[in-house]
Amino acid sequence: MSRTADLAILVVAAGRGSRAGPGIPKQYRPLAGKPLITWTLSTLLKAAPTARLKAVIHADDLNAYRAAIADLKTADLARLLPPAFGGELRQDSVRLGLEALAQEDPPGIVLIHDGARPFASAELLARARDAAVRHGAAVPGLPLTDTVKQVDAAARIVATPRRETLRSVQTPQAFVFDLILAAHRKAAQAGQTGLTDDAAVAEWVGHAVYVFEGERDNMKITDTQDFARAEARLLRELPDVRTGQGFDIHAFAPGDLVFIGGVKIPHDRSLLGHSDADVLLHAITDAILGAISEGDIGGHFPPSDPQWRGAASSIFLAAALDKLRARGGMLAHIDAMLIGERPKIGPYRDAIRASIAKLADIAEDRVAVKATTSERLGALGREEGIAALAIATVRLPLGD
Ligand code: MG
Repeated sequence: MSRTADLAILVVAAGRGSRAGPGIPKQYRPLAGKPLITWTLSTLLKAAPTARLKAVIHADDLNAYRAAIADLKTADLARLLPPAFGGELRQDSVRLGLEALAQEDPPGIVLIHDGARPFASAELLARARDAAVRHGAAVPGLPLTDTVKQVDAAARIVATPRRETLRSVQTPQAFVFDLILAAHRKAAQAGQTGLTDDAAVAEWVGHAVYVFEGERDNMKITDTQDFARAEARLLRELPDVRTGQGFDIHAFAPGDLVFIGGVKIPHDRSLLGHSDADVLLHAITDAILGAISEGDIGGHFPPSDPQWRGAASSIFLAAALDKLRARGGMLAHIDAMLIGERPKIGPYRDAIRASIAKLADIAEDRVAVKATTSERLGALGREEGIAALAIATVRLPLGD
């Protein structure tokens, strides 16, 4: 194998980007149940099956990063090198990542990719590598469909560049490793900051950089609308739609609160059960297990097992979701219904819905929570307990 066939991908994810809203950095925000960075890394590991990967992360995010890679396949983890810590600017982060690769085992070719682009295809990565071998430095680009205007500070148009001469560029940007490392070192030594992509660094030292064909689907996720678009796209790629049902009932016992959907609700009694007796989460868990034909909650978490005494029922839900994700599937919707006279659910309905959405890592508009009484009929009507029904809709990849 020639040295240029040896490929590493540097995934730049050290930013603090705020355009996706406040809170955790966007690369760790859940996208269809998994952090965005997890999607990017697993896509690259699959699309470049021999490449080594190294992420550049913010030092404050080490725990979030470790959690994000915990679900990757063991075989894939072998190709994921320890992360490097980034710097203040993207340019610093890339240089520090390249220096870390140089210290460990420098590759022939390096692709530098945004952590917020989870959809790069195998074809795009192959084109990137070929272009780096041919040209030394190359970036994926797309022709523009809009006309571009250059404006001054007053937003007055000063020029209209010819559209045919323009490209909007993406990542992965592809380089002979030694070339781009030397360029970054030289820029850093010269105090040349503000080069917003790696092509600009190579250009600054005078290298010719070429554009190869990019991909419209290789979108960068920047704001909350992008998250919604990406989520819808991921769901579309899972065409095997299945549903499962769940039912549960728990009797009242002396106590002063009940757990419903992970929400603590004050009441003059509690629900009897081995775990926290969260009747709604139990029904939802069974519905998810049903949708993937993976038995039932009692089989996975037998009430006879002392380790589930007083357990938070979110554990059971998480285990069912893990089974779904292990098959490459995603939860698309939950429709849940409580049946009982008291406590009145109305005041807690929104909190219950938000709690379920959070526990299941899906958007709130994919969760419905309803409640009804049983018109004073039967055991539920006599306030002897609460029952719950749930239907889960899941989406799976087509089987092979
Ligand atoms: Mg139960």
